Amino acid sequence: LKSPYHGGHLEVIVGPMFSGKSEELIRRVTRAVIARQRVAVFKPALDSRYHTAHVASHAGRSLEAVAVPGAAAIRAHLLGEGDLLSDPGLTLPDVVGIDEAQFFGPELGPLVLDLADRGVRVILAGLDLDFRAEPFGCMPDLLARAESVEKLTAICTVCGAPATRSQRLIAGEPARSDDPVVLVGAQEAYEARCRVHHAVRQ
Ligand code: ADP
Repeated sequence: LKSPYHGGHLEVIVGPMFSGKSEELIRRVTRAVIARQRVAVFKPALDSRYHTAHVASHAGRSLEAVAVPGAAAIRAHLLGEGDLLSDPGLTLPDVVGIDEAQFFGPELGPLVLDLADRGVRVILAGLDLDFRAEPFGCMPDLLARAESVEKLTAICTVCGAPATRSQRLIAGEPARSDDPVVLVGAQEAYEARCRVHHAVRQ
């Protein structure tokens, strides 16, 4: 159960939708709980409030989590208003898990690196690529800085090959590259696809 790293470190789990990122995050956090470590799990909230929620995998496994409006709320939840250096009585969890990490802004990087510097094992799960197959937000930077990276694949819904990309479909057709990420009222779906069967309309 001993970590191969000395002290805190950053682990990143990436891949397209349906590749099992949430499952892998749940697996790692569950093992930490079995090892009687203190864990805290976060995910982005769709609204602007804190609430208890669950990290759920498509296969139905789930784990308790705190939904937060942004990285600053994770910092406040873990560190309060104070700072560990000025408040040595503060105890951080042994493990911090964050799902859907791609939805956090650029503030996520400094926070997770700070936690790792303070001895926390940070496990991030998120999309490496958006529906256009372009690097997603804060993820490239975090992939570069992580001690450990796992890239998972799903199964291409067209041919059954390993899928590395998330196909966005709007009314059954591939989305356009300039379609907004949030489309209100549109009938949209995502499928895992390989490089050959992934399409973006120009
Ligand atoms: P992610 O967090 O990467 O979106 P999940 O952990 O939520 O993935 O779900 C992974 C599960 O999704 C798989 O174990 C499998 O049961 C299911 N699944 C559904 N469609 C696919 C697919 N096209 N390829 C792989 N797994 C799929």
